[in-house]
This record gives sequence, C-alpha cells and structure tokens, in this order.
Amino acid sequence: MLTDARVYAYSAVLMGSPILLKLFDDNQTLAGQVFRLIKQQENLFTVNRAASEVMAINHAAGQHPVVVSQPVFDLIACAHAVSLLPDSLFNLAIGPLVKCWKIGFQGHRVPSETELQARMALTNPHDVILDDASRSVMLARPGMEIDLGAIAKGYIADVVQAFLRQQQVSSALINLGGNVQTVGAPPEEAGWAIGLKKPFGEADELIGVIGVNNRSVVTSGIYERYFELDGVCYHHILDPRSGYPLDNDLLSVTVISDRSLDGDIYTTLLYGLGVEQGIACLAEQPGIEAIFVTRDRQVICSSQRHFSFQLLDTDYRLVH
Ligand code: ADP
Ligand code: MG
Ligand code: MG
Repeated sequence: MLTDARVYAYSAVLMGSPILLKLFDDNQTLAGQVFRLIKQQENLFTVNRAASEVMAINHAAGQHPVVVSQPVFDLIACAHAVSLLPDSLFNLAIGPLVKCWKIGFQGHRVPSETELQARMALTNPHDVILDDASRSVMLARPGMEIDLGAIAKGYIADVVQAFLRQQQVSSALINLGGNVQTVGAPPEEAGWAIGLKKPFGEADELIGVIGVNNRSVVTSGIYERYFELDGVCYHHILDPRSGYPLDNDLLSVTVISDRSLDGDIYTTLLYGLGVEQGIACLAEQPGIEAIFVTRDRQVICSSQRHFSFQLLDTDYRLVH
C-alpha cells in the first residue's frame, strides 16, 4: 500500500499474519477494539491451537456431532457448499493433508505416497455432516479435520468492516495478511491504491497498483507460504485430488469483490479453474472480478467494473 501522510497505521501479528489497520484519526482505542475483535474471531475458527469451536468438531471426528455457535455453523455451511460445487478445488475437509505437509510451519516435509493416499481418504466433504436444526457438525470418520484457513481471514475482514461502519468510520482499511477490506475511500480521494505484489519478490516490490473504493481485495499466491526441496517449490494451496500442491501456470490470483469472504472463496476456486475457465466462470458473477498472474509474467484482468489497475513492472505484460 502506498504511503499517505494523513494515515494513522496500527499493526499487530494475529492469525500468524501481519495485520494492518489504517485510519484517518489517531484513535488507539478503536484500533485496540479492532484487534480484540480479530482475536475473538480467530479463537472460534483456528485449527492451529488445541481449543476452538472448530477444533472441538475435529476432536470429536468419528465419534459424535458437536453443537457450535451460529457464526461458526454458518461459515462451515458456506465452506461445505463451496466444497461440493462441481470441479471445486476448495475443500473444507483438507485438514489431514494440510497437517501432514505442514507447509508454512516448522517440520514441513514431502509425505510418502502411502501417507498421502491414507490422508486423502479422510478429506471427502460428503463426510462432513451438518444438521441445521441442532446447529451441529459431525465428521463421519476418525482422523478427519475441518480447516477454514482459506476463508477465515476473509470472513473476519468483513466482520471488521461491519464493526468500523457501525462505529461511524467513513474511511478505513484493514489488511489481514493478504486480505484487504476497505470502508469508503481515503478522504477527498476516488479510491484506495493497493499494491499487487511481485511473486517471490521483496515485500515492497509491486507488479502494479489496484484502485478500489469500498471493496475487498484478496490475493492468494503460491509465493505466500512454501518451501523448496531439490529444486521443487511446494506451496500451501493443496489439490485435494492429487494430495500435492496444485500444479498449474498461476503465481497468484487476486479477487476484487464486495465481501472479503467471497474474495477468499474465489481466489481458491479460480486457482483450481485456471485463467480460461476462471474468466468464463466470472462472466456469470458480475460482482466478482479477478487479476491472474501467470508464470510467464502475464497479468490477466477479468471485467473491470469495480477496480482500476495500473501496471508498474514492465517485465510483466497486461492482457485484458
Ligand atoms: P493465506 O492467505 O493464509 O495464505 P489462503 O487464503 O491463500 O491463505 O488459503 C491457503 C490456506 O487454505 C492453507 O494454508 C490451508 O490452510 C488451506 N487450504 C489449502 N488448500 C486448500 C484447499 N484445496 N481447499 C481449502 N483450503 C485449503
Ligand atoms: Mg491468502
Ligand atoms: Mg483464501
């Protein structure tokens, strides 16, 4: 993001990610409230600690249903529906594979084929059983694990946006480690300028700048969390069909949408679809727009009703 002298920036590390809040007033109290709200939300959804509502479901896998709070039930129901879409790369039951690769965590490794096959048998989204009436979730087999890592930040970014609006804030931006959500635009300006990162580049190296107003911008890239072994890059977006990191020609997908939850869902879905099918899919979703960055340095934009894009790095080629 570009610097603006009028901005008050507040930062924290939460959910294993750097969090940045930008306001146009010096309001430490409000920033503290926002960070507490994020922490509270994280405590419901995390699978990186022993206890959370989601962990309670995982601990009871193969044993019994677990009653959860309405927001947790609703987010799981949403993730479940997306997982059952035809050709969906998104799978809320990916947990056993994520835990076995440990990409982005200590102890990352390449699991054996036998291990991957065993884990894949525990990732069928049809084995996640939801009951609306009792607001409960049951995992049919022992060893199954729900992982909401691909969408929790988007959901939480929307919760923060709603909170800021409720507090009468008219210009603000929250960045939850790659999930940007905004309120309005900076005072007297048309929109926010949000940097599109250069894959595998330094933190401040940008391919270009995205302009938005009152919209979410979510980027998911294979350069975010990965490790290298024998010249192969193993990244954190896993293909539930192979058990391995997804192998295609994309380096990153950025989604511009109203809700950051949709941005998070669509970055994963579009990763799986690739550029051509992805653009075709978006033609039927007028509220969702995307920017794809490919290995051969093309930057491909879908329709551009709700954002502008300015290319800065001429090593990349802009394609519409
Ligand atoms: P982040 O921004 O935290 O890197 P992303 O939104 O890019 O997260 O999603 C990646 C995370 O989603 C992984 O770390 C893992 O927890 C989870 N994940 C990986 N592969 C899949 C998948 N195929 N379906 C759903 N979730 C996934
Ligand atoms: Mg992300
Ligand atoms: Mg995501």
